[in-house]
Amino acid sequence: MNGSRAWIEKDFYKVLGVPETASAEEIKRAYRALARKHHPDRNPGDKAAEERMKDISEAYDVVVDPKRRAEYDQVRRLSASGFRGGGPGFGGGPGFGGGARFEGFPPDLGDLLGRMFGGGFGGGSSGGFGGAGPRRGPDIETSTGITFEDAVRGATVPVRLQRDAACSACAGSGDRSGTARTCPQCGGSGTAGDNQGGFSFLRACPACGGAGRVVADPCPRCRGGGVERRREEVRVRIPPGVADGARIRVRGRGGAARGGAPSGDLYVDVQVSPHPVFGRRGADLTVVVPITFAEAALGGEIRVPTLDGPVTLKIPGGTQGGRVLRVRGRGAPKQRGGAGDLLVTVQVAVPERLSKEAREALERFAEVQTDSPRARLGV
Ligand SMILES: [Zn+2]
Ligand SMILES: [Zn+2]
Repeated sequence: MNGSRAWIEKDFYKVLGVPETASAEEIKRAYRALARKHHPDRNPGDKAAEERMKDISEAYDVVVDPKRRAEYDQVRRLSASGFRGGGPGFGGGPGFGGGARFEGFPPDLGDLLGRMFGGGFGGGSSGGFGGAGPRRGPDIETSTGITFEDAVRGATVPVRLQRDAACSACAGSGDRSGTARTCPQCGGSGTAGDNQGGFSFLRACPACGGAGRVVADPCPRCRGGGVERRREEVRVRIPPGVADGARIRVRGRGGAARGGAPSGDLYVDVQVSPHPVFGRRGADLTVVVPITFAEAALGGEIRVPTLDGPVTLKIPGGTQGGRVLRVRGRGAPKQRGGAGDLLVTVQVAVPERLSKEAREALERFAEVQTDSPRARLGV
């Protein structure tokens, strides 16, 4: 509960300097600007910048993910209405009985807290952040372009990147000849416990830096670090219905940690290319379909394209140009099941040339159809 409370008390929006109503795009822009300014590579040895970057990354991880952000906003709202995790108000407030509320909360709250209190940002052999938690490998960010169809249907795409991977000579052990021995201080666990107010933090063992082993004869290729820089192709699974600009997390495919600690995560920003025929609005697909004046006036059935091939759509008589008709379930899959719709905007097509017969028919039509469509404009 202490952990949840800490989460509530953090103002991720303030950390990123954006309003609570900020769009995903604004959040990304703010994050990039802050990351450029505070990145440890730019501020070597500056502890304050490290701490700040850690806060920024933590805040960004939560608010950039629509699901997590919704959960975070929910917790903040509850918090603002007098609820304090673990505090005296908990369980007592009106309309908020029962101590089991957190069970209904974010399914991955534990994961979130784990990342906040466990894995440090950055890591690396030379210090890492803050010293709290095992020295996980650094997270990596990259982006990939996918087709409109892949975004709707989901796909597995290869993403090329350069990352610190386990050393190919020693398989990441850092040890040339099997001379590594179990770290005497932590007995091989790589961690040191630290009990604070009933909440147990795990720190990296100071003797072995979290590796659990002490290398006596270092591997010459990686100088005992167990890590080497490599170009790799990671296959990233794109879930069906992914939105343009979505960020996908691939656990453990970030940078390898020195000394055998867990790898960081890979974050892939997805850019969806436009489609020549279809547009997209959330889970709904959109398409503009021309119909003839006769179809608009008389009604009828027309064929309209969907991503899965054409379907028949009924046009009601008297349909005006610009009207939007809905084909249920022909949109993109939704995250919580089901699918969006195809929104068909009809456009009344006017023939540019008329045959003699068609002209005569239209002239005859004009003679008999004398109601002015401009009558209500008073002209
Ligand atoms: Zn090696
Ligand atoms: Zn140790």
